[in-house]
Amino acid sequence: PMGQLSLVHSLEYAAAVHADRAALRLAGGNMTWGQTRERVARIGGALREAGVRPGDRVAVGLANRPEYLELFYSIAWAGGIVAPLNTRLTESDLRGYMDCIAPRLVVSDSLQVTQAVQQKYPVVAIEGAAPGTGLDDLAAQGPSVGPHLRHEDDIAVLFGTGGTTGIPKAVAHTDRSLVSNAYHTVMELGYDEHTVYLHAAPMFHIADCCSLFAVTLRGGSHAFLERFSPQGFLTVMQQRQVTATLLVPTMISAVLDSDSLARTDLSAWRTLFYGGAPIHPRLLDRALAELSCDLVQGYGMTEISLGAILGARPHHAVRHNGPDFPLARSCGRPATGVRIRISGAEIPGDVGEIEVAGPNVFCGYWDNGVAKDVRQDGWFKTGDLAFQDAEANIYIVDRAKDVIITGGENVYSIEVERAIQALPGVKDAVVIGLPDPYWGERIHALVVPSSPDVTAADMTVQLHGKLAGYKRPRSYDFVQNLPRTPAGKINKAELVHRYSVQ
Ligand code: ATP
Ligand code: MG
Repeated sequence: PMGQLSLVHSLEYAAAVHADRAALRLAGGNMTWGQTRERVARIGGALREAGVRPGDRVAVGLANRPEYLELFYSIAWAGGIVAPLNTRLTESDLRGYMDCIAPRLVVSDSLQVTQAVQQKYPVVAIEGAAPGTGLDDLAAQGPSVGPHLRHEDDIAVLFGTGGTTGIPKAVAHTDRSLVSNAYHTVMELGYDEHTVYLHAAPMFHIADCCSLFAVTLRGGSHAFLERFSPQGFLTVMQQRQVTATLLVPTMISAVLDSDSLARTDLSAWRTLFYGGAPIHPRLLDRALAELSCDLVQGYGMTEISLGAILGARPHHAVRHNGPDFPLARSCGRPATGVRIRISGAEIPGDVGEIEVAGPNVFCGYWDNGVAKDVRQDGWFKTGDLAFQDAEANIYIVDRAKDVIITGGENVYSIEVERAIQALPGVKDAVVIGLPDPYWGERIHALVVPSSPDVTAADMTVQLHGKLAGYKRPRSYDFVQNLPRTPAGKINKAELVHRYSVQ
């Protein structure tokens, strides 16, 4: 039977309760929830006529446009599985990812995606159409049909992971996991029918989609920024009187650096949901000082949704003053309905791997037509290390993969990076562990200097007293920039490999 926790049911609810309220805020005017539901039913009907059967994947390679939202619901309406594509991947990675999900159909406005398809899969191209009109043909052709009734534990969406540590994995979420996450996102962020949410971060990542499902559930409205630029962001924020949005830390930094910030009317802005990558304490301080909205941090990952752990409203933005983590800040506490444990930790402050259980957790990695469940007794191991303080606040320490073991001591790469990044003359820094016959691993730093005369010797002197001896890098390289992903993350294993073979 169709569960109450379904994407389709959330849309039906919004259309029933908020039929005449704006659903989509478009350049040419608004579309209501009633109209949106009717279009979704027709596009769903057209997809069915195009051969989409329950369980079929429909890949979506679009910029942030209203059609994305229409497709999430109309693919579900037809019983299909939505497979958002990361349009920033290289053509060969896209090809590999597409072969993994084997879509029945690809909807694309991206040349990159269309080329990667190589005529293997049928494409519905929506090139050049004004946002909000790209699916008009399907909506016109489609018979308005009732939704396919599927079980809430059936797969609804395959999201690709960030691809920070390797080729992105396809993460299977069910109606139940997505809608439960929408419920707790609503709870924690307080979305309601007056919310105007801007899709500014890529809609192919789960971080932005948490709010897509949550804002829809509450009958709020959606605005879209096709491609992020700080100037474009600020313009739309003002034009559409946006109340809530999600940004990753690198985007926050770009917005704060923008000359237009001071000239933009942001009086409607209530909530900035941010996360997806560690935020530098200096950047958080700046954001708290310069933005007048509420800042809510989310910790999570594609596998458990963003916002599994939430916090950093002013009372959560605490600085932990323990001796080992002078710069750490809490990312918050578990959201309603989410269970967390730190493996191996006995007392507050003990570092261990975060494990998560709850309805928000994915059902498996997609592999050859099935989702491989990797949970043990319902618990998913995140691969991230953290500790909890006595008040249950959680502090992310590092990815387990990025911990450097030197002379038998564990060194958390983020801690060393924070210390280097705080030095004068340093714009950015990353540390990795290189194989070493004596130390096992030795700490190597890559530094982007902001002034030409910083030297390795200066660094060593300045870090004295700030970091214990064994945590200080043994060698430095000065570089122009660091290979960060759009989310601001670095594949350190690849850097280690690059430096080890030199
Ligand atoms: P891949 O799994 O493909 O290597 P990825 O892990 O970067 O890529 P995502 O699921 O997009 O893919 O990102 C989740 C990761 O981002 C988390 O495991 C964590 O390491 C990091 N992260 C997310 N939110 C935060 C946060 N608030 N603070 C620190 N790190 C965070
Ligand atoms: Mg990951």
